[in-house]
Amino acid sequence: MDKILQLKNVSKYYYSNNQVSAGFSKVSLDLSMGEFVVIVGESGSGKSTLLNVISGLDSYQEGEMYIHGEETSHYGDLDFEEYRKKYIGNIFQNFNLINSYTVYQNVELMMLMNGYKKKEIKERVYAILDEVGLRKFAKQKVSKLSGGQKQRVAIARVLAKDTPIIVADEPTGNLDVESANHVFELLHEISKNKLVVIVTHNYEQVEKYATRKIRMHDGQIIEDEVIKETECKEPYTPKEQKNIRLFSRLRLGLRNTFNLPIKFSLILMVYLLICSSVIAGYSTMAHQDTVDAANGYSYFFNDTSSERVILQKKDGTYFTDEEFESIQNLDNIDYVVKDDVLIDSMMNMYSDNFYFWGSAKSFDAIDLVDIGRLPENDYEIVLYGFENDYYYTDGIDQVLNKSFKLQDNYSGGLLMEDEVTVVGVKLYSMDENPSYRDAAYVSDVVLSKIRQGVYRQYSKITSTFLSQETLSEPWSYFNQVVPSTKVPKGSVYVGEEYLYSCPKGKCAKQKFKVTASNLYYTETLNLKVKGTYNKKTIKKYTGFSDYATYQGAFFVNAEDYSSLFSEQSYQSSVYVKNAREIDATLQLLEDMGYKTLRVQDSLVGAYEGYNQISRIFLVCVYITMGIVLFFIAYFIIQLIYRSRNIYYSTIRILGANKHVAKQLLTIELFTVANLAYFVVFGFIQLLIKGIIELPKVLELIEYLEMKDYVVLYVLICAISLLISNKYGNKLFQKSAMDTYRAEV
Ligand code: ADP
Ligand code: MG
Repeated sequence: MDKILQLKNVSKYYYSNNQVSAGFSKVSLDLSMGEFVVIVGESGSGKSTLLNVISGLDSYQEGEMYIHGEETSHYGDLDFEEYRKKYIGNIFQNFNLINSYTVYQNVELMMLMNGYKKKEIKERVYAILDEVGLRKFAKQKVSKLSGGQKQRVAIARVLAKDTPIIVADEPTGNLDVESANHVFELLHEISKNKLVVIVTHNYEQVEKYATRKIRMHDGQIIEDEVIKETECKEPYTPKEQKNIRLFSRLRLGLRNTFNLPIKFSLILMVYLLICSSVIAGYSTMAHQDTVDAANGYSYFFNDTSSERVILQKKDGTYFTDEEFESIQNLDNIDYVVKDDVLIDSMMNMYSDNFYFWGSAKSFDAIDLVDIGRLPENDYEIVLYGFENDYYYTDGIDQVLNKSFKLQDNYSGGLLMEDEVTVVGVKLYSMDENPSYRDAAYVSDVVLSKIRQGVYRQYSKITSTFLSQETLSEPWSYFNQVVPSTKVPKGSVYVGEEYLYSCPKGKCAKQKFKVTASNLYYTETLNLKVKGTYNKKTIKKYTGFSDYATYQGAFFVNAEDYSSLFSEQSYQSSVYVKNAREIDATLQLLEDMGYKTLRVQDSLVGAYEGYNQISRIFLVCVYITMGIVLFFIAYFIIQLIYRSRNIYYSTIRILGANKHVAKQLLTIELFTVANLAYFVVFGFIQLLIKGIIELPKVLELIEYLEMKDYVVLYVLICAISLLISNKYGNKLFQKSAMDTYRAEV
């Protein structure tokens, strides 16, 4: 006889609430291959405890158990896991199947655990299902089966495991007589050359198969009767043990992820929450830089929007139309403002009842007005103003269809002679234009006149006469260059007081040079003195009559004079479509030979120190939020997974070790985390592409770059691994049987 299991004076005690109770005590037993052992006894006599010890599901305290001759008193958890896997096929009263799996999957699971390949599995599973008569239920979820069918699945599973020992604890306890008969019959069929140990209350039903009957009472064996001699032909030879294959782990992990839709959606929701909070937190931090910059101010620039880049040519010359066109054609360029100077220079216009100040813009940019109409000629303009402003509501009559002169807001100097008429108003709300930057939309003709006006306001004008260089001072007409339509081109009239300085008392034909210079250029007029004027002749020569005022001025031809300021744009601004890609655009423009300045880079932070402190505070807030979020997520997942405890304890009872069980759990949570991340990522892409419109959210995520997404991805993966690790440690800390008992 081939003794596979031997118990010598084995005792098992339960310790609970400081009380010791015996599961069974001093049990000695030899079990051999080929036996069909039936254990009977009243409830509480220790039958289940004995089976659990035999199965390696529970430990014992006294005595010694031998497996195939090997002592087990030194066995640890891992050794018993190995033992169960190699020797024991369990059948339980309550079936212990994976309810969310199909019949096929339940049986297949067993074979995957034992390291079979997918190909080998299919044929074998169907053969086994044939054997237990369940082939046509293969695709059925086990939760839909009757009790008898469920127990047959459990038998099929044991068959698939193909172990030398089959242990069944009241396998028919929940079944009707007919199903019970069927189950016993099957157990008998598969028991050839195996050791079968059954606990049952209905001994009569198994009598015909039993080779040995054991009766227990009060934790002891009181009867041990051999009914039939058994002859086991082949002695037991241990098989080589294989572990679950990596690919099978992945497959199982994925299956577990999706096979309970409600659980899956709940966990997905938790992870979506985690992902969006992490991304929101992260991008708020990243965005803070931009917000800080936008809140900064500039001494030089009026329009400090993040899309603006100022351009000059490296050789200092003005832009040609071709150049504007090639800039405009670059990828990320939204539009080009040729008259850059005007964006930053403020002008005003007013009457007794109205005052406006703002910048000048080309009315090419608008196609709608809220009040009045669009301009029809070059000298009609549209104002851009705040919707609740008195002038654009009740006081609109003071503005609409009124004419004004445009002045430089800083110096008060006139920008152009001609008046402009307001024919329309475009309104903005506080949301659209929080900085209340008013503007006037004007024609290109007026724009270029304003530009000339600005050049004139901000140019230094010097005249060189008789080798003497003098600066025109705005507060005095003496030595000031004054334009006049009466003076012929190329000429200048000087005051008669210069006669004393001119050689031989004659100023006519003397050289006279006027130079205008500003930030961008220096322009020179070479003139000849036409003659001198005095109190009597000033009106005739120059058209000005107020000699007292203009005494000492140099009168030059008006067209000559304006040619000093009719230069083209030396500086232009481009606005990019996407501020995130501005660095690439800057590089492109540099390569084309332009000097670039991103306006945002020139800003001075308003509250540097304050921002530093608020940033540190923000980091603390986010870290705290992160930890809180982690624990909330962890507890929610734990709640959801309470229902999964039974799954994991079941697969462990079936022979999966801790390590494999934890891996399956990790794969499951990791898959959901990945899905959640890519759902959020996809959503962000839709936002960026403009398919979904959520401006506030877009504003937040707009500045995230590819590397940020990688960082975020790693973060999410780490959180997921952390959660599954923490949860796995907790779940698999207890023995399979303890977990199982706590659940059932
Ligand atoms: P049976 O299966 O024959 O009905 P059990 O093996 O379940 O009997 O129980 C044997 C004895 O051990 C009983 O007195 C029972 O109360 C006790 N027992 C069983 N399981 C536990 C446990 N987990 N904790 C404490 N006592 C237990
Ligand atoms: Mg029992």
